[in-house]
Amino acid sequence: MKEKKILVWFRNDLRLHDNEMLVEAIAKSDSILPVYFFDPAYFEFDTEGNMLEGNSRVKFLIECVAALRESLKKIGGNLLVINGSPEEHMPALVEQYEIAEVYHHREVATKETTVSSNVEDLLWKLKVNLKHFIGHTLYNKEDLPFPIKDIPDIFAQFKKKTERDAIVKACFLSPEVISLVEVEDWGALPEYHTASAGPLGGEEQGIAHLNELFIEGSEIYARVNSRANTDKPVYSSKLSPWLALGCLSPRKVYWAVKDAERRFGTNANFNHLILGLLWRDYFRFMFKKHTLHYFTDIVTETDSVAGAAQDELNLQAWKDGTTGHGLVDKYMNELNVSGYISHAGRLVVATFLIYVLKLNWLEGAAYFEQKLIDYSPASNWGNWANVAMGGKDPRSKNTFDLDKQIKMLDLEIYDPS
Ligand SMILES: Cc1cc2nc3c(=O)[nH]c(=O)nc-3n(C[C@H](O)[C@H](O)[C@H](O)COP(=O)(O)OP(=O)(O)OC[C@H]3O[C@@H](n4cnc5c(N)ncnc54)[C@H](O)[C@@H]3O)c2cc1C
Repeated sequence: MKEKKILVWFRNDLRLHDNEMLVEAIAKSDSILPVYFFDPAYFEFDTEGNMLEGNSRVKFLIECVAALRESLKKIGGNLLVINGSPEEHMPALVEQYEIAEVYHHREVATKETTVSSNVEDLLWKLKVNLKHFIGHTLYNKEDLPFPIKDIPDIFAQFKKKTERDAIVKACFLSPEVISLVEVEDWGALPEYHTASAGPLGGEEQGIAHLNELFIEGSEIYARVNSRANTDKPVYSSKLSPWLALGCLSPRKVYWAVKDAERRFGTNANFNHLILGLLWRDYFRFMFKKHTLHYFTDIVTETDSVAGAAQDELNLQAWKDGTTGHGLVDKYMNELNVSGYISHAGRLVVATFLIYVLKLNWLEGAAYFEQKLIDYSPASNWGNWANVAMGGKDPRSKNTFDLDKQIKMLDLEIYDPS
């Protein structure tokens, strides 16, 4: 009988743990072909295959892909690295390696779902199925207490009903052995040049960071009562880059928190961490529910009167961290150097762009997309939409007055940067 080969298309799921797609591909095939595409729709290359944009985001991504390849090698696997788009290369790969089926994780944002649909159409012509998996959220959409179309737009309602009526599933175990399709050349990772510091990408690094959070005496415990005047949690786990690229699954983080709760009791920072995971789910489900309308319905009253030329200069100054506003410039410089800023920092620079410079928020969101090492379409565009008062959650429509916000966020006291 003919050998069954499944192509496993990795995207923002660069891990072995809690990866249903990988587990099922191994179970249902004789051999698998794990593949990652460095898609030029996201990253530009020079003629020698070097990545042109030497920023922190590129560095982190390449580290994550390299780490996945190493993890796969440890269990008898490997990762085929293609510098090109899935649309361009998938049909040829399927034919060359006689692939019976392609597995991948479903995304929610338009750019990503369009790529999936294009690939699905191409595969359909070859009579090969593209199987979709869901593995990006804490709660599977099937387990929610409402169909996608009825998910509450108000975050507090979403949170209350979900926590009350849905369960977080256990993680899938990491596979221990892989049988590989035979490949002559597994492809080289793109080169990149950056002086960026920042965290190291990859599943192992993400898990190590997660474990360090729950060592007694670590920041997560120490910061509980660090703000004497308020009970607002002030903690930032800095897990977002690994979560965004799927080096960590949200369920892995959730169960690590639950385990810590069992050992040490509850803690405001633990709740804050889980609240963050719920916000993350909420934005993904909002995308699923409203698709592009999540943005296009936005009515902003922030049209600039400065004129196009001045707007351009203002936008550039915002990007370069040279606006003259100390806090905004500090955060933008930090973003440019490390690819990460705190949530408070994001709120401040977004508020400044929209309500002080009166620029189009889409410009700000696009710049974040380029720079953030934790860039995640739903989280980025959803949060920007909320700041632009166009999100679907009315409670997010705070007064985005910069000075009030800086006071409200109590930045001098607790901002970790
Ligand atoms: C304008 C703007 C743009 C943003 N863009 C992104 C983005 O591209 N990617 C991204 O992961 N987050 C984004 N956020 C949300 C949030 O700022 C970051 O998730 C958070 O700062 C990451 O730090 P942390 O890991 O210490 O978070 P923690 O506070 O420790 O939270 C734990 C995890 O929960 C998730 N989370 C927490 N808050 C949010 C939130 N408001 N929305 C979505 N997820 C959340 C993150 O995955 C985070 O790692 C954005 C926020 C704003 C205001």
